[in-house]
Amino acid sequence: MKITPGKINELLSEPGCEHNHKPGEKKKKACQQQAEPGAAQGGCAFDGAMITLVPITDVAHLVHGPIACAGNSWGSRGSLSSGSHIYKMGFTTDLSENDVIFGGEKKLYTAILDVQQRYQPAAVFVYSTCVTALIGDDLDAVCAAAAKKLGTPVIPINSPGFIGSKNLGNRVGGESLLEYVIGTAEPEFTTPFDINLIGEYNIAGELWEVLPLFEKLGIRVLSKMSGDARYHEICYAHRAKLNVTICSKALINIARKMEERYGIPYIEESFYGVEDINRCLRNIAQKLGDLSLQTKVEQLIAEETEKLNTELAYYRERLKGKRVVLYTGGVKSWSIISAAKDLGMEVVATSTKKSTEEDKAKIRTLLGAEGILMEKGNAAELIKVIAQTKADMLIAGGRNQYTALKAKIPFLDINQERHHSYAGYTGMVAMARELEEALYSPIWSQVRQPAPWDLEEVL
Ligand code: SF4
Repeated sequence: MKITPGKINELLSEPGCEHNHKPGEKKKKACQQQAEPGAAQGGCAFDGAMITLVPITDVAHLVHGPIACAGNSWGSRGSLSSGSHIYKMGFTTDLSENDVIFGGEKKLYTAILDVQQRYQPAAVFVYSTCVTALIGDDLDAVCAAAAKKLGTPVIPINSPGFIGSKNLGNRVGGESLLEYVIGTAEPEFTTPFDINLIGEYNIAGELWEVLPLFEKLGIRVLSKMSGDARYHEICYAHRAKLNVTICSKALINIARKMEERYGIPYIEESFYGVEDINRCLRNIAQKLGDLSLQTKVEQLIAEETEKLNTELAYYRERLKGKRVVLYTGGVKSWSIISAAKDLGMEVVATSTKKSTEEDKAKIRTLLGAEGILMEKGNAAELIKVIAQTKADMLIAGGRNQYTALKAKIPFLDINQERHHSYAGYTGMVAMARELEEALYSPIWSQVRQPAPWDLEEVL
C-alpha cells in the first residue's frame, strides 16, 4: 500500500470519526490535528502504526530504519500475550550512513529472510520510518519478493513518522490489515454469535477480564484487533457478524470499511465501569438479534451486579465523596467518570483534549454544571485545577505522576503503561482496590508535612 497524499487525506477525513464534523454539519472536513513542537511524547505516525499492530503476538515486527526508531515503541506498552512472545522481540535493519547513500533494500530483504529462518513467525510486518521513506526504499516490492521466496506473508506498513500524528499512524496500521490481511483465509467454522473486538490491546490483560463473560453468553470472539491476537485470526475477521470497537476512534476506519466491504455492522462500546459494560453486553445481544441471548445477558448482569455489590461495598464506603481530577484522552475521559461515579467518587475536572464532540456531550452530562473541562493541559494548569477544586486524587497517564507528587496528592495510572486491568466487572474491583490503596497510603500525611529545613527557617 503506497502512502500518497490522497491516502493520507482519506484517513484524516474518515467519516466514521466525529472529530471530522460537528453535529448538524453536513460537510465533513479533514482532521486538523497538527504535530506541535515538543509534543513528540505523543508519538509519530510510525509509533502509532506499531502501537496498533505490535500486540499481534506471533508476528515478527521488523523496523526498517535507524535503530533509535525501534526504541521509540519497543516494549513501551503492556499488551500481554497468552501464547507466542515473538512480538516482544525488537527487530530492526539498523540503517547506517552507507545504507542511506546506497539504499537499504538489500539489507531489508536479507533481514526478512533472517528473521523468518531464525524465528518462524506466522508473518513478518515491515515498518518504514522517516529515513527509509526519504531515501525511497520500495517497501512493497521488497516485501513481495521476500514473501514469494519464503511462502510466508510479509506485510509492508508504510507509516514513516513525518506523515503525521500517532493517531494517523493507528489508521495506517488498520489500513494495512484491511489491504493485506483481512479476508485472506476462512475460519474452520462460523457461528451466529461471532464478533470481532477492534481497538482493544489487552493492556495489563484487560481482554482476559471480558472474554469469560462472552464465553458464558456463548458469544465467540472470532478476531481481536489486536490485543493477544494471532495472525491467522485476523485473516478471517471478515466472517464475523458484528464488529465491536472498544474505547477508541483509532481504528474506526477498519470497522467502517468492513461494513462497506463485507456488510458487517459495528457498534462503539466501552468496558470501563458497571454501566458501560452492562450497556456493551446488552447492545451486542441486541445487534446479534437473538432473544434468548438477550435473556442470558440480563441474567448475567443480575448475577455480576449482585456479586460486585458485595465485593465493592467496603471500597464504596472508603471512596465515597472523594474528589478526582481526571486527565486522559478520548473516550476514557468520560468512561472513567462513569466508573468513578459507580464507586461514589466525584470527578471535578477532566480533560477533553482528544475527545470528540460526542465525547464532550457525554462528559458535560456526567460532570454537571460545576465540573471543569480542560481543553488544553500542562503540569502547571493541572496543579492549578487540583488546587482550585481541592481534589483528593489525580487519575492520569504515567507521565503525569510527577505533577501529582508536586501537588502532594495520590495518583492512579490509567494509560497504556498501567500494570492493572480495569476492564469488565472484575476490573472494576481492581480499580476500586488501587484507588483505595493510593488514597489511604500513609505516605501522604508525611509528604504534606513541611520539610525540616523549611521549619528551621520559620524558627
Ligand atoms: S519514524 Fe521518524 S519521527 Fe518516528 S521515531 Fe523514526 S525518525 Fe523519529
